[in-house]
Amino acid sequence: MKTFDFTHATSVEDAIDAATAGATYLAGGTNLIDLMKSGVEQPSALIDLRRLGLTSITSTPARGVFIEAGVTNTALANHRLIRTQYPVLSHAILSGATTQLRNMATTGGNLLQRTRCPYFMQPAFSACNKRNPGSGCAALHGFNREHAIFGASEECVAVHPSDMAVALAILNAVVHVQHPDGRRSIPIGQFFALPGQTPAVDNTLQPHDLIVGIELPPSKFFNHSWYLKVRDRHSYAFALVSVAAGLQIDDDVITAAALAMGGVAATPWRLHDAEASLIGKRPTAVAFDAAAQLAMTDARPLAQNGFKVDLGRHSVVRALRLAAVDRDAQVAGPPS
Ligand code: SF4
Repeated sequence: MKTFDFTHATSVEDAIDAATAGATYLAGGTNLIDLMKSGVEQPSALIDLRRLGLTSITSTPARGVFIEAGVTNTALANHRLIRTQYPVLSHAILSGATTQLRNMATTGGNLLQRTRCPYFMQPAFSACNKRNPGSGCAALHGFNREHAIFGASEECVAVHPSDMAVALAILNAVVHVQHPDGRRSIPIGQFFALPGQTPAVDNTLQPHDLIVGIELPPSKFFNHSWYLKVRDRHSYAFALVSVAAGLQIDDDVITAAALAMGGVAATPWRLHDAEASLIGKRPTAVAFDAAAQLAMTDARPLAQNGFKVDLGRHSVVRALRLAAVDRDAQVAGPPS
């Protein structure tokens, strides 16, 4: 690892000033430090955010929740408001990483973690447009079993690794950002970037932007939601496919639906057509099968990941069936 300067920020303004002067933000460090050890990231200076005190979770006047960026994944998943009003978010977080990592990882940092494409993670592979723009994409015709089936380009076929972000997608979260000239908010659907011709760009943040929190509007899905994660092993693995599903069911009719997939694109992949197909239907296997067929219509698998199309279809059906079960009848959530 290269040597670097290390300082603590004592205010948000202090942190942004340091970033403007060239420092890289450090929160929980569960991804950045790994990337520094392998040489993928080589910052000359780190500005530590952990003394900023951005660690509260509060109700908003709009009857939603505001989660400050420094809240750990553990604290967020176990918070009473999240477990009762947004259980899909709790499920998603608890299905990711390990207890130790969740104790360190932060809400803001979770959104900013980089892809786990093996060619990106290992600088010994020279062809990676995300790590080294213009160098090519080793995964395009190489090992691509874990890669994207939606929204990829010839430049990059990587997927985003976050479970939390997939749940945030169906909850219509809003990311609040502080920048040198003020503050703005970014709907989660506009936060992540598809690779296109610029795969090195993961999101729509501008240089020196600092995520200060995430706002959740009131959820219609507190009684009917599920996060299903399918992976090669039961724990401590990234999703081959995941599905966040939320339903509102009134008098045995679906009146609202939200679906997003993880492990299939560089962004949480929202399934709008499948959602629309469910409205006005009874929560039956026929309706769920039809939605799942629609969900996979635009899939474009690579040489080694055609299995994700079938896996995705079955996962959507299963997530919907589990979401349709009344919460009181559901188990407490997936094992960590
Ligand atoms: Fe790099 Fe993206 Fe290709 Fe992976 S898929 S090698 S991250 S350019």
